Amino acid sequence: MSRSRKVVLAALLLVAVLVLGATAAARAWQPAAQGPAGHFSAPRAVPIETGSVRATIRSGENIASILDRFGAPADAVIAAARPVHDLGRVRAGREVGFAYRRGVDHAVSFSYGIDEDRTLVVVETAAGTWEPRMEEVVYETGVITRQLQIRSSLWQAAVEAGLRFDDIVRLSEIFQWDVDFNTELHEGDVFSLVADGLFLDGALRKLGTIHAVRLKGRERNLTGIRHQGEDGKVAYFDLDGKARRRPFLRSPLAFTRVTSGFQPAGRFHPVLKRTRPHFGTDLGAPMGTQVRSVSDGVVTVAGDAGGYGLLVRVRHDGGYESGFGHLSRILVRAGQRVEQGQVVGLVGMTGLSTGPHCHYELKLNGHHIDPMKAKLPVSVPLPEGEKAAFFAERDRWVPFLEPAVAAQE
Ligand SMILES: [Zn+2]
Repeated sequence: MSRSRKVVLAALLLVAVLVLGATAAARAWQPAAQGPAGHFSAPRAVPIETGSVRATIRSGENIASILDRFGAPADAVIAAARPVHDLGRVRAGREVGFAYRRGVDHAVSFSYGIDEDRTLVVVETAAGTWEPRMEEVVYETGVITRQLQIRSSLWQAAVEAGLRFDDIVRLSEIFQWDVDFNTELHEGDVFSLVADGLFLDGALRKLGTIHAVRLKGRERNLTGIRHQGEDGKVAYFDLDGKARRRPFLRSPLAFTRVTSGFQPAGRFHPVLKRTRPHFGTDLGAPMGTQVRSVSDGVVTVAGDAGGYGLLVRVRHDGGYESGFGHLSRILVRAGQRVEQGQVVGLVGMTGLSTGPHCHYELKLNGHHIDPMKAKLPVSVPLPEGEKAAFFAERDRWVPFLEPAVAAQE
């Protein structure tokens, strides 16, 4: 290699080192955004170039420290935002964004994702004041199909399919009159769906309208097809046009991500040694799981009831009464009307109970009946006048539930 070439190479190397060094310096303030909240007493640095940065709020962080860390004037931004949104209660996990302009030594714009559909934006005006505005998140919509193969739980299968917890809850609610999703799914069951997927930057963020779902298992084969009635109400129906909704929920417990899918229904929790007769079903569940009224009714008991601990009883039409014991909290009062699915309390272990569970009773005309075997009133069919429209919807969406069609997505 000639001497001149060596010089050129050395010069190139020097330039490379300088460029890398400068890039590292320019980014030095960014890694700070990733560290724990307590680490930012060090002098903050803002980029001198035009650009933007995003970060996620961690638990325990407050808005003033976040704004300060990214070089935005905390007092001015919080005060400006107040008429639109109170930044005093930002939520961990939400995204914040900052924008910078060349030559300006502080952030000139701040954004905060309030929820999935709204973003608060506060920008500095030419006059140096800060102005807030609310922006709607605009999703792209496309029809998607998914086949959820249950291996350990619905939660596991749904996460693998890219769905969020809220989507899974919506799916489980379509069959909540037939299936207890915490205990009654089996390995090998397949959950298929066709829905509007809502996308941001090409990534599925959540489900919009769910058009049709099917649960195919060794014990059952259920289909739910969406239909909006002439009264404007949206509900799901089976292939024959019978409402999935029925007067009683299969289980009072809301779907939770904690339980696996494979406990036997109504499994017995080792409460007491059965020294007294036991009327009801013990549903094991994590502390704090929501307990829902299984049908419309009126609360008759809401309070401490000795061995049952905190107890709620609800009277329903047709001579039915339900009861939920050992709650950690009661969220209704005696005399109150409740709707099917309304949360009446939270699972606990008050009274004679050695572990968190819900003691669930169902009575008909004063006699205990087994809620897991009870022959409960059946659902109503669609009005005749809506059947043609419904069957057209059914024939449009049901083919998407077949794997062969799903593969063409
Ligand atoms: Zn019990």
